[in-house]
Amino acid sequence: MGSQINKIECPRCRKIVAWEKNPHRPFCSEYCRLVDLGRWSDETYRISSRSEDGDELDNLVTLNPKREKN
Ligand SMILES: [Zn+2]
Repeated sequence: MGSQINKIECPRCRKIVAWEKNPHRPFCSEYCRLVDLGRWSDETYRISSRSEDGDELDNLVTLNPKREKN
C-alpha cells in the first residue's frame, strides 16, 4: 500500500525523478541519458570490434574519458 512506483532513481546521477511524464527515463534528463547511452554504445562498439585482440584493451583504458578527469 502506498508504494511509490512512479518515482525512479536516475542510474547516472542518482537523482530521484518522476517516472511519468519523463521522456528520458530511466534517466532524469536528456543529458544523463545521452551521456550514459553514448558511453555504453561507445564501449560496446570498441569491445565488440576489438575484443579479439587483447592488446586493444590497453587502448580502451587510454581512451577512457575517466582518465582525463583529474
Ligand atoms: Zn541524471
